[in-house]
Amino acid sequence: MKPKIWLSSPHMSGKEQSYIKEAFDSNWVAPLGPNVTGFEQDIQNYLGQNRHVAALSSGTAALHLALILLKVKAGDEVICQSKTFSASANPIVYLGATPVFVDSETETWNICPEQLELAILDRIEKGKTPKAIIAVHLYGMPYKVDQIQSIALKYKIPIIEDSAESLGSTVRDQHCGTFGDLSILSFNGNKIITTSGGGALVTKSLIEKEKAVFLATQARDDAPHYLHSTIGYNYRMSNILAGIGRGQMTILDQHVEKRRSNHQFYQDAFEENNAITFLKEPEGYFSNRWLSCILLETKTIREELRQALEKENIESRPLWKPMHQQPVFKNAPSYLNGVSDQLFEKGLCLPSGSNLTDAERHRVLTTIKMYFGE
Ligand SMILES: *Cc1c(COP(=O)(O)O)cnc(C)c1O
Repeated sequence: MKPKIWLSSPHMSGKEQSYIKEAFDSNWVAPLGPNVTGFEQDIQNYLGQNRHVAALSSGTAALHLALILLKVKAGDEVICQSKTFSASANPIVYLGATPVFVDSETETWNICPEQLELAILDRIEKGKTPKAIIAVHLYGMPYKVDQIQSIALKYKIPIIEDSAESLGSTVRDQHCGTFGDLSILSFNGNKIITTSGGGALVTKSLIEKEKAVFLATQARDDAPHYLHSTIGYNYRMSNILAGIGRGQMTILDQHVEKRRSNHQFYQDAFEENNAITFLKEPEGYFSNRWLSCILLETKTIREELRQALEKENIESRPLWKPMHQQPVFKNAPSYLNGVSDQLFEKGLCLPSGSNLTDAERHRVLTTIKMYFGE
């Protein structure tokens, strides 16, 4: 068996261990400490736009707290991009609220402005104004930030920007993670940088950040004894993991460059092959190309190609199965145009790690060319 080529695997810079050692040496082995503060500061400096960052245990926790900050309660409705990972939608259900799924457009594969407006108008007519819009920059490609923002403003609905896959992406040089009223990041093992597991909430005001940290540390009121007037959570990031994050921040831009070069490599290699298409960056858009995705002509070809890669011990994966197609969300209202279903049928994510070697890329290439008889 040839060695496994992964879709996206952790990639350390070498600096992580010195931050971890510092944490041990100073005994900050806790969900607070200098690495947590330092990591938050590093992300704030990177994102710009005067944002505040709360480091948390996961991106899912960040979404959960974002919904709580927006006062989402049982019985409320929250709009969510259908084409995404289930973690975008699950926290809506944690709160007893209902997700309302909205389909994608073809230029970024993210939430479709027309469907979004139809959904809002229809929900209002049915008696409930949605409490929030969760928009996702899938695979690092920013959603249509201007159009989505203007619809959100028109109906006065806040945006939660799910930037879990898009740290390092920009629109007209503004970083993803700074477009939402609240934004979230993920540092899971397969993301563009990792803390093994972790996430962050990005806020516009210090007050919101402080509120998130308060909720994330068991909602302890200011008193010498343990006093609680709110339900809290244990969602803070550990100082050890934040040390990994500090090391990872030093090479974030190199990771982005490498992932973009993977995408360019595949695009150049299949330029002549009309059976494979790629998602282009719209004018002013810069994608971190977290995963390199291709579209095939049919579902059969996509599945045959996936199996051909698997036989060579190369991991590839269909694009996210839309939430409106998931058994667990079968009763949720959805506003559909067929785009995300088509993408799910014909799309395939190829190995995209920032640690992918030239030899590995060529193995992927050869396997795909063999499949097409090239
Ligand atoms: C990974 C991911 C999340 C969840 O982040 P975790 O840190 O794994 O909890 C949320 N949304 C999207 C789009 C993701 O890809």
